[in-house]
Parts: sequence; structure tokens; C-alpha cells
Amino acid sequence: MITTHNGPQPADFTDVRATNLAVVLRFVRENAPCSRADIAASTGLNKATVSSLVADLIDRRLLRETGLTENRVGRPATMLVLDGSPYAAIGVEVNVDYITAVAVDLKGEELLNWRRSFPGSTSSAGQAIAAVAAIARRVVSRMSKEARQVLGLTVAVPGLVDVQGAVRIAPNLGWHDVDLCGDLAKALRDPGFPVMVDNDANLGALAERRFGPHGNVDDLVYITGEVGVGAGVIMDGRLRRGGRGYTGEIGHIQIDPLGPDCRCGRRGCIEATAGIGAVLARTAPDASPADLELEIDEIVQRARGGDREVLDLLAEVGANLGKGLAVVANLVNPEVIVLGGYYVPLAPWLLAPAEEEMFRRAIAPGGGGCRLEVSTLGYGAAALGAAARVLDSVDSGRLPAPA
Ligand SMILES: [Zn+2]
Repeated sequence: MITTHNGPQPADFTDVRATNLAVVLRFVRENAPCSRADIAASTGLNKATVSSLVADLIDRRLLRETGLTENRVGRPATMLVLDGSPYAAIGVEVNVDYITAVAVDLKGEELLNWRRSFPGSTSSAGQAIAAVAAIARRVVSRMSKEARQVLGLTVAVPGLVDVQGAVRIAPNLGWHDVDLCGDLAKALRDPGFPVMVDNDANLGALAERRFGPHGNVDDLVYITGEVGVGAGVIMDGRLRRGGRGYTGEIGHIQIDPLGPDCRCGRRGCIEATAGIGAVLARTAPDASPADLELEIDEIVQRARGGDREVLDLLAEVGANLGKGLAVVANLVNPEVIVLGGYYVPLAPWLLAPAEEEMFRRAIAPGGGGCRLEVSTLGYGAAALGAAARVLDSVDSGRLPAPA
């Protein structure tokens, strides 16, 4: 019997039922179209149980039947696929220079993707919460107009988020001890769906697994290339959060003890020597956070035009990044490290020096088999991952009630 508990406690009937509903839902997500017999054969649940679970999932409009298909053996079977069109999962990312909101349906099809510039570094936490609540309300209202039920909302933040959804420190936003989850639920006036908060790098890693080309990679590290640099670590197929949820703060590994000052109060951290800030400090020291995208565009143009100063700078930043990635490769031996955020447009110039330095410093031959790749999800990766976290919670048994 499958139970929701890892320990030896017996699960009660409702737990077992919820878990088995989730088992069937996940099986159909991964194998659709498939029949009830396929589900029974692969999950070990008996056929009567599968029929009852499938009926329940159809009632909840999470699955639907499609046409009959001739089985290779035996009678024609009614095939099942994910439905989920009446649902939406919402992800919002708040960062130093923007707020992004995305909504996807149960299948993960994107329903909307909005990006607004937002002065995160000069706003108070209260102003940021009001702005996140405002954009979330607009998304919810759009979903209601489309007759979709909201399954949940996750907010991505560039900082240390504890297991209760409070932000302990977000250096680039200037936040300390902000109860984002609680305050947001209040601002949304008890919205009737779960509200979660998570670190942007963790959510970027989840997005790469669910929406990127790395669905089958069990050991993956996602690196945010925002003003902050963080890592989301998936090992053995699971996101690793650590004791209090603070895994992956690689942005403050020291690369150069004599390097430039970092926002964290130390010197020569990865963020200060290999982050986007390190690029802009030398090319556009007076750039406003609101213009980051424009400034990065300008750097891309100069690099394409063969500007020696910019090319040398990007080579240096890439090598510094590689020094940091070698620590990651030595510590967790990922199959792939994915660079996201502003590293994506700059990747043509960063990737080679970063890879070379990482390989040189990793102790295992060939960097322990680690590939360095660039995210295909663009600037919306953390917000997409935030929506993915809502889908993950549905897939693990937090199902919407039957209509
Ligand atoms: Zn630092």
C-alpha cells in the first residue's frame, strides 16, 4: 500500500486515497494518452481501485476521456488524458528591477506572461508586497473571467526564504525578516487558494525540470543571473533545501579577497566579481536598475561589434563565474549547470571562459561529467518555476475539491 508518510505510522483512509489519486494523476501526466488498464499494470493498484480513482479525477475535471483506441492485446480501451483546462497555477517573481507574473493550466500550458519594471531596490517591503498583491489580483481576475479556478500562487524572491515562507534576508531588495507569505495572504484577503513563497533559484531549477529540456536530468543546478547570483540544487531528482531552507547561496562565495565590495558587506564575492553588477559597474556605473535590460542590450551590441574593452571584461567575468561553478561541480557533481537570467543574452561570451575555468578547477576528470548550458526559459524562469511549484503540490496530492 502506498502511504503519504515516510515513517512507520499507518496512513488513514483519506491519506491513502489522496496519495493514490496523485499517483494516478502523475502517471497520466507522464504517459497520456493511456488506459485504465495501463495505469493498473504500471502502478500495481487493482483495476476496481483505478476505475474509482479515475472517476474521481474526472469529476474534479483533472482528467478527461478521449476516443477509443485498439489495444495491442484485447478489447478497445478508452484513453485518458489530463484535462485541467478549468484550472490555473500562478507564479510571480519579484526582483530588483521587475515583477513577472505567469499563469499556466494543469498541463503546464502558458496562459499569460506579464513583465513589469519595478524599482525593487528602492521600494520598501510593504510597497513590494502591495505591488505583488496588485499584479496577483489582476491575474486572478483574468483567470476568473476565463472560468478557471486558481490552484495556488507562489512568489519567487531573491533571498533566504525559511520553511514558513518568511524572507529572512534579501540583500538586493534590502529586506530583513519579512513575513511575505502571511502579509501577502492578508493583502489578498484570504484568497481561497494556497499562497507560497520560495527562493528564485530553487524555482528556476524546478522550472528547468518541468518546462525546460532537462526533464530527465536528476542532478541539476540552476544559476540565477540577476543582480543577485544564487543556485537551485536538484540532487537525485529532488530539490535540496537544506536544514532551514537556505541551500545554494553561492553568490557570496569569495572569489577574490581583494575584489570589489559586495552588497552583503564582504568583498570579492561571486556576485561582485561575476554577477551582472560586475559587468555594469565597469560599463555603465550610473545605470538605473529600471534600465538593466537596456544596458545589457547595449553590452551585447558592443560585444557583437568586437569592442575590445567589453570582450575582455566578459572574458574576465566568465572566468570568475567558472571559479565559482567549479566549487559547485566539486560539491554536488551535477550533470548539468544551467545559467539563467541576464547570463542568457551574455552567454555567447561568458560560456567558453566559464567552462574552461570550471574544468580546470574541478578535481574530477572532465568536470565530473558536468555540462554548462544556457536556460531556454528566458527571464521568466523563476516565475514559471513558481507556477511549477503549485503544479508539484497538486501532483503530490493537494487536489482541488470536486465541482
Ligand atoms: Zn557577497
